[in-house]
Amino acid sequence: MIKVGITGGIGSGKSTVCRIFKVLGIPVFEADSVAKQLMNTDQQIREQLIGLFGSSVYLSDHTLNRKYLAEIVFKNPSLLAKLNAMVHPAVGKAFDDWYLIQQAPYALHEAAILFESGFYKKMDKTIAVIANENERIDRVMQRDKINEELVRQRIKNQLNDTERIKLADYVISNNDNELIIPQILEIDKKIRTNG
Ligand code: ATP
Repeated sequence: MIKVGITGGIGSGKSTVCRIFKVLGIPVFEADSVAKQLMNTDQQIREQLIGLFGSSVYLSDHTLNRKYLAEIVFKNPSLLAKLNAMVHPAVGKAFDDWYLIQQAPYALHEAAILFESGFYKKMDKTIAVIANENERIDRVMQRDKINEELVRQRIKNQLNDTERIKLADYVISNNDNELIIPQILEIDKKIRTNG
């Protein structure tokens, strides 16, 4: 079984694309949601986060104060890098444990910053989901009920689509006027036959 990383900028439609891969019987490891989960449950990560960001990083019910954290790190790339360095090893371990028990032709590792984190080097193949920036911004503003400025801050901390296309083995283009299912079926067929 091979490991296929799937990535894309905020609002590109990675999760939407992954839902279709799941229908095709492909297991998907959702790195971003595992990271969020670990920040709530892993004692060592909790202590490191409080050490770096102060106790306000957790709410009174002990869950992560995501709004507070996002406001700090998306304006400060060096703190964002420190946060990632605290969380990534545990996510990598969770992926390795998860991967061992999967049974399928291949498994997907979905992560927004697969290339930026260097995690793509552990993958056999990679897929980039791309979409025009304006469409992505509109989608995220609608989905998360946040303003354009906040979406743009997050975009600034990610690669752009030209860089993603260069690094990826396969590309799925997900603008509003494009059909993603035929693109996914073709990539699925190629991976099942050639990897
Ligand atoms: P994030 O990195 O923020 O998690 P994502 O890349 O996983 O984002 P999705 O959550 O899949 O993106 O998509 C963002 C929003 O855009 C969702 O509300 C989704 O329903 C919508 N969306 C995705 N693809 C399309 C499309 N082709 N046309 C219209 N809306 C779309």
